[in-house]
Amino acid sequence: MSDTIFGKIARGEVPADLVYEDEAVVAFRDLNPQAPTHILIIPRRPIPTLNDLEEEDAALVGKLFLAAKQIAAQEGIAAAGYRTVINCNAEGGQTVFHLHLHLLGGRPMGWPPG
Ligand code: 5GP
Repeated sequence: MSDTIFGKIARGEVPADLVYEDEAVVAFRDLNPQAPTHILIIPRRPIPTLNDLEEEDAALVGKLFLAAKQIAAQEGIAAAGYRTVINCNAEGGQTVFHLHLHLLGGRPMGWPPG
């Protein structure tokens, strides 16, 4: 399976501003934030895209969202609201091929997204 910058961050080989980690999930601040709070939540295991998810990954996907909930509370944006996004492949805007959940907040999020 191909390695990415996020795999290196998950293994601690490349520095990142970590905000959360457990045995399955790592979360860190986006290098190029699109909102006052912009955090990327990734599984430690490198799944390239949402298309690559299998039945057996269901619990892991749940853990990404539970981490998002916890981090949103930690960041003080839970009550005001926030957005979670997973981009998939080129037209979805995915640029790093290690599955990641964007957590965006701290400002009103427009709809539809640009
Ligand atoms: P995608 O476009 O694949 O959904 O999102 C990739 C995100 O990763 C982008 O928002 C980009 O700013 C962020 N990113 C890319 N490289 C790095 C990096 O080395 N460190 C961090 N913290 N974020 C990165």
